[in-house]
Amino acid sequence: MSLGKTTHFPVLIVGAGPTGLVLALWLTKIGIKVRLIDKTSGPGTTSRAIVVHARTLEFYRQLGIADEVVAQGFNFPNANLWVNHRLKAQIPIGILGQGISPYPYVLVFPQDQQEELLIKHLKKLGVEVERETELLSFQINDQKIEAKIRNANGEIEDCQAEYLAGCDGAHSLVREKIGMKFEGATYADLYYVADVVGSGPALNGELHASLDQAEFLAIFPMKDKGHARLIGVLRDMDKKKTIEWKDVNPRLLKEMDIEVKDVRWFSTYHVHHRVAPHFQKGPVFLLGDAGHIHSPVGGQGMNTGIGDAVNLAWKLGEVLKGKASPKILESYEVERIAFARRLVRTTDQAFQFISSRGAWARFVRTQITPRILPLIMRFRFVKKFLFRTISQTGITYRHSPISQGRACRIESGDRLPWIKSVDNFAALRTLSWQIHIYETEKKNFESSEIPVLQYQWNDEMDKKGLLKGKIYLIRPDGYIGLIANEHNEIKNYLKRIEKKNY
Ligand SMILES: Cc1cc2nc3c(=O)[nH]c(=O)nc-3n(C[C@H](O)[C@H](O)[C@H](O)COP(=O)(O)OP(=O)(O)OC[C@H]3O[C@@H](n4cnc5c(N)ncnc54)[C@H](O)[C@@H]3O)c2cc1C
Repeated sequence: MSLGKTTHFPVLIVGAGPTGLVLALWLTKIGIKVRLIDKTSGPGTTSRAIVVHARTLEFYRQLGIADEVVAQGFNFPNANLWVNHRLKAQIPIGILGQGISPYPYVLVFPQDQQEELLIKHLKKLGVEVERETELLSFQINDQKIEAKIRNANGEIEDCQAEYLAGCDGAHSLVREKIGMKFEGATYADLYYVADVVGSGPALNGELHASLDQAEFLAIFPMKDKGHARLIGVLRDMDKKKTIEWKDVNPRLLKEMDIEVKDVRWFSTYHVHHRVAPHFQKGPVFLLGDAGHIHSPVGGQGMNTGIGDAVNLAWKLGEVLKGKASPKILESYEVERIAFARRLVRTTDQAFQFISSRGAWARFVRTQITPRILPLIMRFRFVKKFLFRTISQTGITYRHSPISQGRACRIESGDRLPWIKSVDNFAALRTLSWQIHIYETEKKNFESSEIPVLQYQWNDEMDKKGLLKGKIYLIRPDGYIGLIANEHNEIKNYLKRIEKKNY
């Protein structure tokens, strides 16, 4: 039944997974009205993604929810590598990022709890997820969206919007309707994920990865004692059969001395590696799993979707408030697709290394890695590199059209380095542009357009690559937009953003 009524929104968000929820929260906080729809009757009740990385927590701090997330989650001290049932390497993952981020660890906080928390915060701001509400189709007319939506009463509504955010997951209808392929492939092997309660030395609140000639098993700790997430491979399964926990080969579990007493959730999945060729078509955007999917190695999927949401949110905000030309939105794809492609490539390589049955891969996995890993992990720069990569704090947008200027080791497009001694990230809570100056004496510098924060120079700033006296223009998402010497450069940069002249 058609309602015949038409609603108008600046932004229509399709999909209330972590990507859509964060996009809605950021936009709402900066005063942009959104409509957030999801075809399911309620949020997911299974854990799915379980780790939150430092960069996501930094964004959550900007949104004012990091303390709650950290309090509800937990971080674990070590990641242990076992080869042929012998402990070969231990990485102190709980302190790996000390000095790099206020969150130097990997936080375990399951996706279902995270979605619940985001929904709660949206509700506080007066935004409800419209459940059992499905996007059926849409058209782009005169750069505007005209969508057909079936609401919870089964009625068909017309919804107009300036922008459409496709946060609708791997089987995205938005992606299909804009004619975007999902290039890549699917691995033949089947994998399982199981949330279990049990006992044994590997259920000690740490992460364990066990490799041998034929298989691998990853054991992620969960908050409650004796609870863990197991991930492993199911070799040579009958494709027609429904796979259950009893089909998991118990050999590796036995060898790791794990006794499973209860299986709370069991699921199987095929691993894909795919990226859409574009993340934007006119006023339509693809974010999260709608734009890229890859192996779960490193727990990057959900965190990457959240990064997409933050990147697009502030740009949409600037455009809808008339402070930036719509051309700035093109930088969303430039910045995020480069990262997505690299992520898909690297997680793919890591995944092949872990799961390949080839003789050479087995040899490297079981003979070379256990010898080399403990050696290289002694170097500080290796630990730092590892943390920056896993935590996504190393993401940089140096190649972006809106990144201008460089100063020594830090360039525009880099994430603003965290200066622990003055906690320069505290100021990012405003979700707006700001100028940072790091100087011995206070500079006589004012800007009518944006707030200026001056920090007294110290050694830590030097170590982190900042230059004394430079003017850093910080984007609302905490990346450096411009490194300047004088005020005029800031003015010109902002004018270029406003008048699409870059
Ligand atoms: C078993 C499993 C284990 C995983 N483990 C990890 C992990 O350890 N680490 C990690 O980072 N990631 C993991 N992931 C991946 C992670 O869950 C996803 O990357 C994440 O959910 C992506 O979020 P999203 O918001 O982009 O999409 P989704 O969470 O898929 O949300 C999309 C939403 O869009 C809605 N929707 C779709 N079409 C429409 C429509 N036409 N109209 C209205 N609504 C629509 C859907 O109902 C859904 O709620 C795992 C996934 C699975 C399935």
